[in-house]
Amino acid sequence: MSENKINLKSNWDLAPSLESTSHINLKKKYDLFIGGKWVKPSSGKYFDTNNPATEEKLASIANANKKDVDMAVKAARKAYDTTWSKLSGKERGKYIFRIARIIQERAKELAVVETLDGGKPIRESRDIDIPLAANHFFYYAGWADKLEYAFPNRNPKSLGVAGQITPWNFPLLMAAWKIAPALACGNTVVLKPAETTSLTTLLLAEICEQAGLPAGVVNVVTGAGDVGAEIVNHDGIDKIAFTGSTGVGKIIQKAISGTDKKATLELGGKAANIVFEDAPLDQAVEGIINGIFFNQGHVCCAGSRLLVQESVYDVVLRKLKDRMESLIVGNPLDKNTDIGAINSKSQLDTINHYIKLGKEEGAEIYQPEGKLEKKGYWCKPTLFTGVAQSNRIVQEEIFGPVLAIQTFRTIEEAITKANNTPYGLSAGVWTDKGSKIFNVTSQLRAGIVWANTFNKFDPTSPFGGYKESGFGREGGLHGLEAYLEFEN
Ligand code: NAP
Ligand code: MG
Repeated sequence: MSENKINLKSNWDLAPSLESTSHINLKKKYDLFIGGKWVKPSSGKYFDTNNPATEEKLASIANANKKDVDMAVKAARKAYDTTWSKLSGKERGKYIFRIARIIQERAKELAVVETLDGGKPIRESRDIDIPLAANHFFYYAGWADKLEYAFPNRNPKSLGVAGQITPWNFPLLMAAWKIAPALACGNTVVLKPAETTSLTTLLLAEICEQAGLPAGVVNVVTGAGDVGAEIVNHDGIDKIAFTGSTGVGKIIQKAISGTDKKATLELGGKAANIVFEDAPLDQAVEGIINGIFFNQGHVCCAGSRLLVQESVYDVVLRKLKDRMESLIVGNPLDKNTDIGAINSKSQLDTINHYIKLGKEEGAEIYQPEGKLEKKGYWCKPTLFTGVAQSNRIVQEEIFGPVLAIQTFRTIEEAITKANNTPYGLSAGVWTDKGSKIFNVTSQLRAGIVWANTFNKFDPTSPFGGYKESGFGREGGLHGLEAYLEFEN
């Protein structure tokens, strides 16, 4: 495994620097976490969760069904009625702070498990996923007793039971985004993680136990999409919080129309990084690399399109290719790894399908040389040039390390091209001129716009999309609002 890397053209090589796995203690089998207890699935069935870098089995996970979801929703309702909604905000805050602190204490373990189960580089799970997850709990713990100040004269009230469904790209972080504000507002939760990456959410359930959280406040039911659908369709659910694909988001929206369930949907994206000729180009290239190759491109807000002003196209392309040649694709547990394993065989198939499609559409492909390991799911960082706005690789979300590059001449052309996809989640602008930043960002139809940086996240800042990227915001005060109703 440690040999598995491509950076053949770099002049130097780094010795492997593997993160130890000796401090983690995974159970062989994980049951469902319902009503504060670990409960066997009523079907008696379990499924395997594997390490996508080695294809080896990590653990067995309980496969929930309709009956288990019903039990979990009832446990959450009971906890809501008898305990959680009756506690003062100050008391709720204490529990949430405790969860945040235990995440910090168990950070190393959580980071390694996230990397083993999902395939993302340890550098990312250690420096981004886990600290940000703890920060979300810290941030929302602080709001729990200040809701009246957050929404003055509006008399905020909790909603009841929240059904939450998370994707595989940031498993623990997405669970934190959803659980922390829900609990701070006085709601209880039934959460379903993605089938391929349930482990850190199950460890979070252990952490809830460890923090002494009252039974039933957080329930975790594992399984595939059908378990998510059972949550969505259950009568006892007051609010759905979903992060995942636009396709499933549409199914959910249809399913809850005509009910009084509230919903926030965080869906796909096809972000444009716009580089103007006056931008600090080395910094921009680093931002582009981070924007699309970070977490193998398994990021809804990934900068998967690059728009470069024509006058600097050649130099940006050369710098990008040079930088791509030094990227290390390999063992996610190695601290030097830039690009880890693709999360699953089916996601790798999807990415490869788009790479083939890009070639068929007539685009020119560039990938660094080097061989990928046979075992595990790997993809080289990939560039497409010579693409047209209507190409599917420009319009559709690939969710992999694949970048499509276009050029522009004027600001207007850049804005038109950037806005010309069905999505509207994020975008990036690179220029030395502050006035240009304000001009461009105010015209981009994207929920998150970064200027001279990319993929920066903070619990205080709202996150969410326009158009087919969904609706509602997570993070910041907006994230609280989604878990409350108001008299005024
Ligand atoms: P997905 O199929 O939408 O899955 C997201 C979550 O919803 C998972 O927990 C999934 O369960 C569950 N689910 C599937 N079908 C459901 C249904 N009918 N009702 C309720 N829940 C359901 O997305 P994915 O498979 O994780 O990734 C596929 C695509 O989604 C990606 O290629 C990308 O386009 C997009 N995506 C977007 C984001 C984002 O943050 N915006 C994140 C991840 C993925 P199982 O996975 O266990 O089946
Ligand atoms: Mg896995």
